[in-house]
Amino acid sequence: MTSILSIDRVREAAHIISNARKVVVLTHMSPDGDAMGSSLGIKHRLDSVREDVQATVVLPNMYPDFLGWLPGADKVVVYENAPEKARELLEEADTIICTDFNEPKRIGSLGECLTQVLSAKHTPCLLIDHHLHPADFADVVFSYPESPSSCELVYRLIKDLATQVGDTMFNSPLTLDTATCLYTGMMTDTGNFSFNSNRADMYEIVSELVRIGVDKDSIYNRVFNAYTADRMRLVGYCLYNKMTIIPEYHTALIYLKRKELYKFNFRSGDAEGIVNMPLQIKDIYYSCFMREDKVLPAEVPLAGGSKIKVKISMRSQGDRPVNVFCHEVFNGGGHKNASGGEFYGPIEQAVELFNQNYARFFKQDN
Ligand code: 5GP
Ligand code: MN
Repeated sequence: MTSILSIDRVREAAHIISNARKVVVLTHMSPDGDAMGSSLGIKHRLDSVREDVQATVVLPNMYPDFLGWLPGADKVVVYENAPEKARELLEEADTIICTDFNEPKRIGSLGECLTQVLSAKHTPCLLIDHHLHPADFADVVFSYPESPSSCELVYRLIKDLATQVGDTMFNSPLTLDTATCLYTGMMTDTGNFSFNSNRADMYEIVSELVRIGVDKDSIYNRVFNAYTADRMRLVGYCLYNKMTIIPEYHTALIYLKRKELYKFNFRSGDAEGIVNMPLQIKDIYYSCFMREDKVLPAEVPLAGGSKIKVKISMRSQGDRPVNVFCHEVFNGGGHKNASGGEFYGPIEQAVELFNQNYARFFKQDN
């Protein structure tokens, strides 16, 4: 398989990892399969090749239930639940590895903690990511937005450390735990290999991971067939009662208020995949899903003084970017066909903003 990572950066990464003893691995807020898979994959790889390294995954907030079976998920430290422990780990770390996010803002309050730690004491920091425009906070940056997943980048880095740098320390085969974590992110960030998945060498990686023993059928079941009855009813409600179609712009919009989420006992991960569903409709190429995310006590207003944070998710097909729309309208960003953003205020205002702006960004043609 051809190497795509810069050899100079692989050498720098090898140097940083060789000197590492206490490693903290960070990944993004509301961690998905790629965030969990890449961060735990790094931890398992370090655990298996370096007995003298202690690696801990620190998450900004809790992962959804359907990722709880991932090897090592039970040992992560969650900043939202244990901020002091997380800060202590960061302060004591001699190496920080960030994966699947491009700027400290994407890890919420943990990002402020990271920025403080990095400015107080220089700690070698590695970033492995596939989002556009990485912020300038890491010493060595592997930023490949064309890569379908961060897990694939982690796999490539592991291989390049062995073959390009020729470091015997990195030469041992991947353990089943590492392979399982990396496969999971490759699978989830491509919708089980249904988008961003046309490159042949991706299947060379999958082939090797399956040869190691990855049970891909079981991973599919554990990730995609693990919903609660409440979540299935929420999907039914969204599609039947809440989906607006804008035919001229091939667009679908679904939005949910807090009280609707309560009705379905909403839990983290329950919204996963809903935004993709309208794309199954013929001639629908853009989909937007919005939900009210947090209502905080009045004394802790969010940015803009609002108590309500709206989380926006967008998906599209083909050459119809939604990241520019999310960036300009909802202060967010992401990939061409999968992006998101935020809005502070009542969700009706976010919907209004959406309606005022889509015609400037979306294509009318087929
Ligand atoms: P999701 O819709 O699954 O939450 O997010 C899809 C993608 O959009 C993520 O992988 C991430 O790249 C991007 N994204 C989601 N929310 C935000 C946000 O608030 N800000 C930025 N910059 N990107 C986001
Ligand atoms: Mn990702």
